[in-house]
Amino acid sequence: MNRILTARPPGEHSEPLPLLEIRNLKVHFPDGAGPVKAVDRIDLTVRDKECFGIIGESGSGKTVLCLAALGLLPEDASCSGEVLFRGKNLFSMPAPEIRELRGREIGAIFQNPAASLDPVFTVGNQLSEALDRGAGVSGADMKTNVMQLLDRVSIKEPALRIRQYPHELSGGLRQRVMVAMGIAAEPLLIVADEPTSGLDLRVKRRVISLLQEISRDTAMFVITHDLELAEKLFETLAVMYAGEIVEIASCKEFFQAPMHPFSEGLLNSLPSRGMQPIPGSSPSLLALPTGCRFFPRCRHAMEICKTRHPELFSVEGKRQVRCFKYA
Ligand code: SF4
Repeated sequence: MNRILTARPPGEHSEPLPLLEIRNLKVHFPDGAGPVKAVDRIDLTVRDKECFGIIGESGSGKTVLCLAALGLLPEDASCSGEVLFRGKNLFSMPAPEIRELRGREIGAIFQNPAASLDPVFTVGNQLSEALDRGAGVSGADMKTNVMQLLDRVSIKEPALRIRQYPHELSGGLRQRVMVAMGIAAEPLLIVADEPTSGLDLRVKRRVISLLQEISRDTAMFVITHDLELAEKLFETLAVMYAGEIVEIASCKEFFQAPMHPFSEGLLNSLPSRGMQPIPGSSPSLLALPTGCRFFPRCRHAMEICKTRHPELFSVEGKRQVRCFKYA
């Protein structure tokens, strides 16, 4: 049986509910000087087959949001709000149920395959285990399925690769094995954290086209600071700054005309758009400004921005911007 390449029966996964809903999520971490507000009042929805991305600078809370979506927040995290997968709240699920969900229905692609792949097991062992979490793979089919999985992520010489250990592979091959692990059980949703991080340009482009292919029939929730990946892959994106979302837009609208001053600055820092860095640095998540969190760096700042914190204002269609310019 060819489990990997067989299409799902029509309607099997048709689901009226959105796949992933994050509602009023706050994640704080204890610190001697006060709580670190890593994620602050995040609301977003990822629908079936949608590719939803989060972009932002390092330290903006993107990775913590990704861990929340995978039910992998560290124990010292203090959380409120909801992370709903097909209507069920991960925060109220027992750990074994979350693990089961993460293996079968939510696939994960992490940013550091050298740390995420187990160094003492071969690629074949690890992919077999990931495939085994999906339904209906018999032992006899396993080797064939592992080889097909490697072929699907464009890894040549699969018979050799399944016998190798992660340290015997190049960085690009390890990342593609990581992608293979994420898609092995044919999940409904793939959550990926910086999937192109640390790859050279040639390998990065190959991984991007692989993710584009996967996104045609699988929903994705991808965290990145790589704007090339964002432009080529995302359908909808949210921009994070200092723990909160400052803009939600379709990818096309965003790259044509960013609205939030931080979004504008992000795009202007690209070499193709003049490479003008945003002055200053992000505020500490321990001591956030009272008003707009971008106020100290914003060239459009007004008096109100110093003292009042802007909400996300609806602008047009589904577009939302956290800026008094659009109030
Ligand atoms: S609310 Fe004010 S300071 Fe904040 S981004 Fe908008 S204009 Fe700039």
